[in-house]
Amino acid sequence: MSAVTHAEVPAEVAAPVVQVRGARKSFGHHEVLHGVDLDVERGTVTVVLGPSGSGKSTLLRAINHLEKLDAGYVGVDGELVGVRVAHGRLHELSERAILRQRARIGFVFQGFNLFPHLTVLENVVEAPVAALRRDRGEVRAEALALLDRVGLADKADAYPRQLSGGQQQRVAIARALALRPQLILFDEPTSALDPELVGEVLAVIKDLAAAGTTMIIVTHEIGFAREVADTVVFLDGGRVVEQGPPDEVLTRPRHARTAAFLSRVR
Ligand code: ADP
Ligand code: MG
Repeated sequence: MSAVTHAEVPAEVAAPVVQVRGARKSFGHHEVLHGVDLDVERGTVTVVLGPSGSGKSTLLRAINHLEKLDAGYVGVDGELVGVRVAHGRLHELSERAILRQRARIGFVFQGFNLFPHLTVLENVVEAPVAALRRDRGEVRAEALALLDRVGLADKADAYPRQLSGGQQQRVAIARALALRPQLILFDEPTSALDPELVGEVLAVIKDLAAAGTTMIIVTHEIGFAREVADTVVFLDGGRVVEQGPPDEVLTRPRHARTAAFLSRVR
């Protein structure tokens, strides 16, 4: 096979996995996103930092189309989420198109949101079978491999209530991976955990990063951000105040608001 130079890579492959442009969102009179732009390249990790109420969750939810933007758009994998352009005008996507796109994005929440009445294995198997109509036997084999990857092969037949919070969150990560997503969104994945359980979840996310998984992670774990992020984005008051490599944003922030935030969470 001959080497492929960058110029020969088709635009849809070279395009960022996520493109957010001019994203605006209000709840009532309160504008929560004030025109956010964000690019996430394939195989990179973006860590989003910011004070409580700065719009981090709303931004993730907009990328997954759980929130509808008032203006701007979100593109995932070269396809616009929520809007499509025809004759130079923006139109909303059909519900079917939204569901198809959402199936390409994994979402891991602060609370693990596992189905309590299903075993660990069933929790991982359910979504690919229900959403992607994949063969249950094939998905089951893959799910067991994913549970092994997050260190829970021996818990396949347990129920969520029998697991620690850290173990439940690792199941939630395996469940997200089972959809073979283009992108995984994490919204404060360790915030609900006892401190001694944070490390095991961060270790799994670090492994995913090392394997080239494209991720956007909202977290207050600054040390982890420094280790794992290709790009750190600081959001404040619904605006991207500053973004760049962790060495710059976390070590030599250019904005007083970033510095003030970092001194509070460290
Ligand atoms: P963060 O995740 O950074 O803490 P959020 O995106 O959750 O911030 O929220 C940003 C602001 O939007 C907050 O002031 C929050 O109260 C408000 N907000 C979020 N979701 C809703 C909603 N569904 N209805 C009304 N206000 C909301
Ligand atoms: Mg939040």
